[in-house]
Amino acid sequence: MPPFPRPQEATVSLVKEPVDGACPHCAAEELRRYPVNSEGGWFLVVKCQNCLHSVTRERWHLLGSLQLLSDTI
Ligand SMILES: [Zn+2]
Repeated sequence: MPPFPRPQEATVSLVKEPVDGACPHCAAEELRRYPVNSEGGWFLVVKCQNCLHSVTRERWHLLGSLQLLSDTI
């Protein structure tokens, strides 16, 4: 398992967090957890970065300010 190569920078929570395990679809160990905005709002997904298979997907709430922003669209 590789160490964290990237420094934790002060960007908002849109950081792709490495997740242990292999993709059930292509078996690559490229799983990352991060929020995505799709129809119906924000979801926190675990996605394979190799084939883009979604392993898990759950509702997720952004920080208040951004949530307000999306509400005004
Ligand atoms: Zn995959």
